[in-house]
Amino acid sequence: MEQRILSYLKEHETEIFEDLKTLALAEASTSDIEALAECRRVLERLIRERTGCEPYTYKAEKGHDLVRFEYGEGAEKILLIGHYDTVHPIGTLEYYTKGNELHGPGVMDMKSGLISTIWIVKAYRELTIDPGKRLVFIFNGDEETGSGESSEIICELAKDAKAALVCEPCVANGDLKTGRKGTMNFDVTIHGKAAHAGNAHKEGVNAIQEMAEEILFVQSLTDYEAGTTLNVGVCGGGTKVNVIPDRAEYQVDCRYQTRAEGERVRKAICELEVKVPGTTREVLFKDGKPPMEQTPENLALFAIAEKCGKRLGLSFSHQFVGGGSDGNAVSAMGIPTLDGLGAWGDYAHSPNEYLRIDQYMLRIALLGLLVIEI
Ligand SMILES: [Zn+2]
Repeated sequence: MEQRILSYLKEHETEIFEDLKTLALAEASTSDIEALAECRRVLERLIRERTGCEPYTYKAEKGHDLVRFEYGEGAEKILLIGHYDTVHPIGTLEYYTKGNELHGPGVMDMKSGLISTIWIVKAYRELTIDPGKRLVFIFNGDEETGSGESSEIICELAKDAKAALVCEPCVANGDLKTGRKGTMNFDVTIHGKAAHAGNAHKEGVNAIQEMAEEILFVQSLTDYEAGTTLNVGVCGGGTKVNVIPDRAEYQVDCRYQTRAEGERVRKAICELEVKVPGTTREVLFKDGKPPMEQTPENLALFAIAEKCGKRLGLSFSHQFVGGGSDGNAVSAMGIPTLDGLGAWGDYAHSPNEYLRIDQYMLRIALLGLLVIEI
């Protein structure tokens, strides 16, 4: 089976790379609504022409429409997730090859992952391989800014899925992703009481002093072993050097690996008691992506992928990574989720982004085989 799929992909390698070029050059960063629409048209045409499936569009208010298509039949459903937006402003990156590296806007993150999904379906069809289940493909256009218009739809589709496969690139060393950190932010405002720094020092309540105490406390909530990091990245307060400041503000970024850790940090910051008498505080809690925990279900899915990899002569491990994806919310629902099933390359989100040409067919074959084996 693995050799049939791999041989088929190798025979069509030139066409696959042409499709990747076509889709990568339909550039669209998340804020370019018109460009996103054009990219979607290209994507939908490729889906139609290669797979024979008719894509369905979910209209989104701000223009980040989603594209869905389905293939195969069966009682079980697998959700394959990808995004067609990129972080690169249009026209800033060139498309070229350098040795084994293919450079271009979004070639790795993650136009290649989309092309992988299209070509596994084409391979199944032409090789008359029945994946034995219903495959639902969902591609969004706002992943790079947090999936505000798409997360709900993706989670709805994930509800009764046997597994969710995220076709984002793998880790730079070839590993798959079984966990991803969750994120949350806090905007904290401290209120004190203004007074003349010389004549009425005792009457003032210094909001900056309270902020300073809190910053040290918040930073100390970091626990590297548990995978929890806190960063006070912005702070400020006061108006003039000779006035006791009645207001100070700071902002916190938190990344965490488990929901228990997230709850520990949220409680500690939201329920903190002030140290400087007379100050009051307000906390604006902004919940981001939940963590994709390394659940036994995710690890079991990885074990299947590892076996599929071996059959293709690939060896890789798995990792818990920092950045989030649409797999976070799906995994948090209890759906077995595996991420990093797209291409292999390096430097995502940077102008040096590239894909390893000699590994691309193998990674598509891995995805194709995994879908069958789940
Ligand atoms: Zn991505």
